[in-house]
Amino acid sequence: MSRPMSRTRACVTAALVTLTSLVALTGTTAPAYADECYSWGRTLSSGTSGPDVAELQVRVAGWAGYGVNMAIDGNYGAQTVGAVRGFQTAYGLGSDGVAGPATYAKIYELQDADCTPAHFSYAEVDGGCGAGGYGGGSVGEATVKSNLLRAMWRAEALRQRLGNQPLTVTSGFRSQACDQQVGGSGTGQHTYGTAIDLVSSAVSLCTIAGGARYAGFGGIFGPGYPGHDDHVHVDVRSGQTWSAPSCGI
Ligand SMILES: [Zn+2]
Repeated sequence: MSRPMSRTRACVTAALVTLTSLVALTGTTAPAYADECYSWGRTLSSGTSGPDVAELQVRVAGWAGYGVNMAIDGNYGAQTVGAVRGFQTAYGLGSDGVAGPATYAKIYELQDADCTPAHFSYAEVDGGCGAGGYGGGSVGEATVKSNLLRAMWRAEALRQRLGNQPLTVTSGFRSQACDQQVGGSGTGQHTYGTAIDLVSSAVSLCTIAGGARYAGFGGIFGPGYPGHDDHVHVDVRSGQTWSAPSCGI
């Protein structure tokens, strides 16, 4: 049988509970800082490596240059230097290829609490065919979400490159069943979460496809490629497979 708490002990406990509640309250009422997603703890530059480099690479891969589909490998090499320079230039920062406080501040401004970039969300790229979610694909759900995040950050770069014009996702992740239902092979890029289909109310499909060549996309299919006259498909597959004949691509 436990003894009742002494009066003093009870007061201390009450005070602690109050403190804890205050901390919890502060946590929930604080502004939605983007670094709820991820914060970098050091300046990164050529030659550094680690998971923090990989986190950076995911966010700047759309700025590595024409036809550069950089690996997210955690090694800060020449392509990462180029991508960081491109990112810095695009957002009006000093372009030194080194990721420090100013670069991180811009990324924090761009990323939402769930790590998606400002103008794209998981809700618009999750399961197609009305199913929602990330199941039934060619890889596990965590990999699907990770791939979608990579695609969305490159799409954010593309959007910025096109003059901050709206891009609308018409299809993102598809389960294998969904992919077959819409006429796909059932094992295509969409079933890995690596692909998104885009349209825009402000720019032409050829403008999207043309810009995508600079935004780190390994796969680009647009007007003139069978089945792609009403959207541009972009994906983050390795290598380079582009076809939009009506756009000269
Ligand atoms: Zn597609």
